[in-house]
Amino acid sequence: MGSRSERDVAKIRCMYIWIDGSGESVRSKTRTLDFVPKTPDDLPVWNFDGSSTGQSSGSDSDVYLRPVALFDDPFRHDNAENGLKNRLALCETENAAHEPTRTNHRRSCRRTMSTTTIADATPWFGIEQEYTLFEADAKTPLGWPEGGFPGPQGPYYCGVGTGRIYGRDVVEAHYRACLYAGIKIAGTNAEVMPSQWEFQVGPCEGIDMGDQLWMARYILLRVAEDFGIVVSFDPKPICGDWNGAGAHTNYSTISMRESGGLKHIESAIERLQGRHKDHIRVYDPKGGQDNARRLTGRHETADIKTFSSGIADRSASIRIPRHVAQEGCGYLEDRRPASNCDPYLVTERIVRTTILDED
Ligand code: ADP
Ligand code: MN
Ligand code: MN
Ligand code: MN
Repeated sequence: MGSRSERDVAKIRCMYIWIDGSGESVRSKTRTLDFVPKTPDDLPVWNFDGSSTGQSSGSDSDVYLRPVALFDDPFRHDNAENGLKNRLALCETENAAHEPTRTNHRRSCRRTMSTTTIADATPWFGIEQEYTLFEADAKTPLGWPEGGFPGPQGPYYCGVGTGRIYGRDVVEAHYRACLYAGIKIAGTNAEVMPSQWEFQVGPCEGIDMGDQLWMARYILLRVAEDFGIVVSFDPKPICGDWNGAGAHTNYSTISMRESGGLKHIESAIERLQGRHKDHIRVYDPKGGQDNARRLTGRHETADIKTFSSGIADRSASIRIPRHVAQEGCGYLEDRRPASNCDPYLVTERIVRTTILDED
């Protein structure tokens, strides 16, 4: 209907994505733009009904959405009409005074990461995101007999073939979608429990780790939706003799990566030991309750109450990978964060403890 010049304006769709009031789920809604954004700051601040997402009361319901990271949209990709790429925008949530909402932990993380001491240490992270696929009933792990169990763990980890692998089409589609979007996805593997999987994101510096991991989670949920499959980030989705799901956080600073870095890795581990409880408190969204089901001391975990560390030790809280010990530098792996952790809380806590030695 509009005039020719109106129709000629470049239109793209931008999906605004945010963490909701649960601190675990993401929400999204679309807005048409008549320009091509180059940075997240080019995008308008928007708003949504926070009373429907556990982020405000009904009488004061508007919550602001501030775009903070931009990715290419692997679902809408580019428009046939004008060849322009549609976008995904990760957003912070803010109240009327533009303060962060209760589950917006990015603001504090970003502030910490941008202090001179932290930024000079160039903290790198790589997170191994484990998750479990379920049938559309959200009760039966994908491919498991309804109300029953598959054969015991053993053949599934990095497995191949029918009866060992469930949901590879979801995993492959997610991998491609992440690469298209611009996520630094490092790899994927099938996990020890059947229908449990992992992807790794990293290495990412500072605030980028949280941004990239949350976007990768969004993409996974969105891909699985097209398959009618449910993604669970619960850290112990099936109780009993089945592995739980974590978000192992690999971490290094410049001094750890340089020759002789092992001694810096060791002193970081000493500081982590002194603040074990403070870490457990923010390594899942329920202050340690979710991880209590997972960190049992069995199934490749350390007991939640006891801090431990070791070379190549997958039953420790902190593992130094064997190749790192051999080369004398590299990174450490914190095996405690749960699969449903908030990476902003985890990465901020790690740099506060290991670099600032403070709460
Ligand atoms: P695992 O042997 O525990 O299964 P993975 O291979 O799954 O380990 O994941 C290792 C992760 O560590 C990857 O995400 C990778 O990007 C990350 N990583 C590699 N080098 C570093 C480093 N120097 N600092 C931080 N993270 C790193
Ligand atoms: Mn791994
Ligand atoms: Mn794993
Ligand atoms: Mn690991």
